[in-house]
Amino acid sequence: MNTPLPLDTPGNLFVVSAPSGAGKSSLVNALLELDAKLAASISHTTRAPRGQEQDGREYWFISREEFRAKIEHDDFLEWAEVVGNLYGTSKAGIEARLAHGEDVVLEIDFQGALQVKQMFPMATLIFILPPSWEELRLRLQRRGDTEPDVIERRMANARVEVAQAKHFDFVVVNALFETALFDLKAIVHAQRLKYAAQLRHRSAVFQALDLC
Ligand code: GDP
Ligand code: ADP
Ligand code: 5GP
Repeated sequence: MNTPLPLDTPGNLFVVSAPSGAGKSSLVNALLELDAKLAASISHTTRAPRGQEQDGREYWFISREEFRAKIEHDDFLEWAEVVGNLYGTSKAGIEARLAHGEDVVLEIDFQGALQVKQMFPMATLIFILPPSWEELRLRLQRRGDTEPDVIERRMANARVEVAQAKHFDFVVVNALFETALFDLKAIVHAQRLKYAAQLRHRSAVFQALDLC
């Protein structure tokens, strides 16, 4: 049973999903470097670390038993099984950050994104599409840290994931990296300018203008 987050927080919640290899982490990391008001949430996962990944940096790497215990304790805002591994976003940290007016970005799969939207309708859901299936496969291969059979499973899973893009608020095609990054920045910026977001973030101005 998931306990919902409070709806009226000063910070904005962004959720970015994409099939593995579409460039989600590269884009979100570039966005985080440019935007000091945006913080990433570090997910928990039962998959093994890849390449240079470090515990507490890309993910918190935990066992299935530890993951199950966290589900029991209602520690997760959402969790999902993706190609045989469990992934979850812990509530700790996110609530506090949003309450302090910090914006938070989650890099999670579509099942998790749709769960978050149900609990937190003000969340902005962004889907990153690869320019083609061929390019997605090339990127997975070029990354060089994934076994061939895992690539096939991820390609099969990608077809299921891409079909969910229609449920998202925004879509970014990651063909040229800089163009996709520009699009992502534009979405974050536009979201911060929405009436409800401005009302939360600029309450002093709204009060001075007798708007609330
Ligand atoms: P400024 O950019 O020099 O005007 O300084 P600010 O403190 O107003 O903005 C700094 C950061 O806050 C930038 O990353 C802005 O995108 C972001 N920002 C600006 N307006 C808003 C807003 O209404 N809501 C939120 N959450 N962030 C905002
Ligand atoms: P994800 O987080 O979605 O699994 P990554 O960010 O790890 O994807 O990107 C997968 C691979 O594709 C990485 O090697 C990355 O450098 C590369 N990549 C990302 N965006 C582009 C792009 N626009 N053009 C070419 N290669 C890209
Ligand atoms: P990877 O193993 O390539 O880092 O991630 C595989 C998939 O798991 C991606 O689709 C990624 O978005 C998703 N994922 C990562 N963290 C979470 C999480 O906390 N929750 C959910 N639901 N999915 C996640």
